[in-house]
Order: sequence, then structure tokens, then C-alpha cells
Amino acid sequence: MIRMTTLVVMTCIMISLAPCRIFAGQKDENRFASARAALIKEIEAYVAQTSDYIGAGRLDPAVMQAMATVKRHRFVPKRFIRRAYDNNPLPIGYGQTISQPYIVALMSNLLAAKPGDKILEVGTGSGYQAAVLAQMQVTVYSIEIIRPLAESAKKRLQKLGYDKMRLKTGDGYFGWKEHAPFDGIIVTAAAGHIPPPLLSQLKKGGRMVIPVGGRFSVQQLVVVTKDKNADLSTRQILPVRFVPLTRKK
Ligand code: SAH
Repeated sequence: MIRMTTLVVMTCIMISLAPCRIFAGQKDENRFASARAALIKEIEAYVAQTSDYIGAGRLDPAVMQAMATVKRHRFVPKRFIRRAYDNNPLPIGYGQTISQPYIVALMSNLLAAKPGDKILEVGTGSGYQAAVLAQMQVTVYSIEIIRPLAESAKKRLQKLGYDKMRLKTGDGYFGWKEHAPFDGIIVTAAAGHIPPPLLSQLKKGGRMVIPVGGRFSVQQLVVVTKDKNADLSTRQILPVRFVPLTRKK
């Protein structure tokens, strides 16, 4: 008899908690959605403040739309989930970081990718930048040097439905020759110099966005343009701070 009562009570608790849990999940998603909307406003304000560097007062609506869609809270470690929509970089383990959202938006804008373009990313990290580009309907090839980061990014991106992306573990300094040339290349770690293999894998008319500088010196975000005669020109945008582009020993 006692057993029966306990069972009934437990079943009741379980039944009443189930919708509660679903509701709590939905509530969190709503909270993340409003945090994401607030972040978009903050990025717009940053862009306006830095318009002299960027040469524009606003970013491409396609970039902002992608930023407003990709769930950054799915790309940060659980312990930082409440800070996922702060306009800051966050640690992702192995001494690496997911970049500041304003910088992700800015770099995506500078890349000027169009739907259908083939883009190479060096430094998959969490996979967030790659997801933002995929959201803009470009085909992303991304390389990450730290195997566990590459593996967890791959799982995460598949789970979120970004299944057209091509990912590999390796040293991105050498690019991805089999799939070259690329319409655009984005490097999300700071290089001491612009890697020549990346320059040669850039299409004529293509663009590369790369932070250049040492670990302890001021780095500059640089846009490299290859014109139709394969002549290169560079433009410094603004000072930035990235983790270094490392090399396999
Ligand atoms: N784009 C990432 C940012 C990651 S930080 C994101 O959105 O989360 C930079 C990443 O570049 C790190 O994960 C680091 O391991 C990786 N990296 C550094 N040197 C590299 C190299 N030579 N080739 C490929 N990845 C590299």
C-alpha cells in the first residue's frame, strides 16, 4: 500500500515536472534571443564609433542578419553560457578564444563574401565564425591546428545543421591546396607575416582578411586584395588582439 502511494506520488511529480523542464528550456532560449538582439544593437554602436577605420557607418545587412541568427551560446563552454552575448572574446580551452562578436562581424564584412563563394578559414576554434559565414550562404573550408578543438567544432557544427562545411585538422599556414583557389580567405589567428601559400590560393579578384603582428606587439587587421592581374594591395583597418598563428613543430 505504502509502495503504491509512493509510486503514484512519484509519477505525479514526474508528469508535472516534464512540461516544466520544456518550459524552462524555452525560457532560456527566449532569454538568449533577447540577449542576441541586444548584442546586435551593441555591434551597430561599435561600428558607428569605429566608422572612420572601417570606412562605413554600418555593416552589410547580410552580415548582421547572420550575427542575429547564429546561436553563440552553443559555441561557448557551458560555464560561460551566461556571457555568450557579451561583446567580448571568451576562452574555449587550450589557451584559445572565441573572438569578440564585433570583430567577427567586422571580419565577415571585410571579406565581402557573396552567396555561393568558396571561403577558406584558418583557425576553426569553436566554429562560430565558420557558422556565421555559412549562414551567409557561402561554402566554408576551415582548418584548425588543435585536434580536440577541431573535433569538438565538427560535432557542434554538424549538430547545429551546418553540414555543408568542410573541416580538417592541420596547419592552416599552408592553406588547402586541393580546394584552391578561394574567393576569400579569413585568418582568425595573428600571423607574423602574410603566409605566401595563402596568397597563392586566393583567386584573382579575391580578398584575404588577416590580423598581422606578433604576440606582444600591436597587431593590425589587414585586408589583402588580389586584382584581376594578380597584383596585391593591402589596407590596414584597425589595431586588434588575436591569439597567435602557431606552426606544427
Ligand atoms: N574562428 C574562431 C576563433 C578561434 S581563435 C572562432 O570563431 O571560435 C584562433 C584559432 O586558430 C585557435 O583555435 C587556434 O588553435 C587556431 N590556430 C592557430 N594557429 C593555427 C594554424 N597554423 N592553423 C590552423 N589553426 C590555427
